[in-house]
Amino acid sequence: MSEIVVIGGGVTGLASAWWLAEAGFQVRLVEREAQVGSMASYRNGGQLSYRYVSPLADAGVPLKALQWLFQQDGPLRFRPEADPRQWRWLLQFLRHCNADTNRRTTATLLQLGELSRNAMAELSPVLPPSAFGWRDAGKLIVYRSRAQFERAAALAAADAEVLSAAATVAREPALAALHRVLAGGIFNPGEAVADCHAFCVALELRLRAHPNFLGVTHADVHALMVEAGRVCGLDTSIGRIGGDHYVLAAGIDSRNLAGRAGIYLPLYPLKGYSLTAPIRARDHAPEISVTDFERKVLYARIGGRLRVAAMVDLVGASLAIERRRVQSLMRLAKEAMPDAADYGNVETWAGLRPATPGGGPIIGATRYGNLWLNVGHGALGFTFACGSAKLLAGALRGDTPPFALDGLRLTCS
Ligand SMILES: Cc1cc2nc3c(=O)[nH]c(=O)nc-3n(C[C@H](O)[C@H](O)[C@H](O)COP(=O)(O)OP(=O)(O)OC[C@H]3O[C@@H](n4cnc5c(N)ncnc54)[C@H](O)[C@@H]3O)c2cc1C
Repeated sequence: MSEIVVIGGGVTGLASAWWLAEAGFQVRLVEREAQVGSMASYRNGGQLSYRYVSPLADAGVPLKALQWLFQQDGPLRFRPEADPRQWRWLLQFLRHCNADTNRRTTATLLQLGELSRNAMAELSPVLPPSAFGWRDAGKLIVYRSRAQFERAAALAAADAEVLSAAATVAREPALAALHRVLAGGIFNPGEAVADCHAFCVALELRLRAHPNFLGVTHADVHALMVEAGRVCGLDTSIGRIGGDHYVLAAGIDSRNLAGRAGIYLPLYPLKGYSLTAPIRARDHAPEISVTDFERKVLYARIGGRLRVAAMVDLVGASLAIERRRVQSLMRLAKEAMPDAADYGNVETWAGLRPATPGGGPIIGATRYGNLWLNVGHGALGFTFACGSAKLLAGALRGDTPPFALDGLRLTCS
């Protein structure tokens, strides 16, 4: 039985390890940090947003982005870097900003979303949803602009509920403070919310009991060792680690590891922030998870806490928390949901979304016969983790994929 080494113990690497073990491979996971799920998968928005998958790159986005840059609490920040990877990524992003490409990518991501939803459901007998705060809460997208709302209403899924402003607030009373500024909302049933970090920890625990799982090795992978067109080992902080196949699932750090082996991965760290605040008995926290469309802010009740996540900052790979950005997010949260949680007791967090220019992940083979990728899940890594892992396991087994993966392959390496 082939032995596979998965690099990265975030939600993507853990899900990959699970489905590879289920597919009959012997699997070892290598993770740099002391605990799994402690990088981008730590305090994300918690949305399992299987149908709200349209990538950021779309017609009109470059112009909108310029406007956002001048807004005080705008969702976007840009700081030019000397790193040519930033400029290369931006150029590729601009090339993806057209309606046709967006439509094609969205169609593929909807299939990945459906696969992911089903894969998550398949997990539930072995990993009870209660272990990671999973709730089938539905998702309410609220619009301030009438034109945006009408456009979205025209495209809403058959089972979505298109709601007036008053009906939106009646559906989710935590939005009462916005009743004067909302044009309306669209409620999508079947979308879920959960704690991504708790999912990672629970999945690691479950993996340890899997007969095909060889364990987690805590080591920093410095380089992929390449010989005669194949990876022959990993050079790590604790020495060489070897296997038959290698899966790169190291989030944004995948681009450095691949780069050192001569493979260009079109990934850029889109930095985002989250706030986590305890919900007290007297608070009016949302039951449904909410996306404020124009402000690009997500709100979710995760266990006894309110999670608010937002911001897309193109400022390099630093995890430093910029006070100005956190203050902006706090202002937006208090304006939208002033009584939802104890904002005096907030924990702040910043994470790096490992994003491709087109918005779809990269799953599958590389030019090295035994090196595989599961990277670039951007803003939807929790949502797509289980489906991507199933696709990857299928690719290693040589199965015919359940749908065309053209948009999810590495094209320029
Ligand atoms: C603010 C914010 C909100 C978000 N909200 C949502 C949401 O609501 N829904 C959703 O679906 N997604 C959301 N996301 C996106 C999601 O969090 C990411 O796409 C996802 O966590 C990426 O997972 P990953 O496993 O690929 O990367 P990571 O979680 O970063 O995992 C990579 C792992 O690899 C390890 N690693 C890296 N380099 C090495 C090395 N050299 N050696 C050994 N190990 C290494 C790291 O330590 C890490 O544990 C959000 C992200 C942010 C920042």
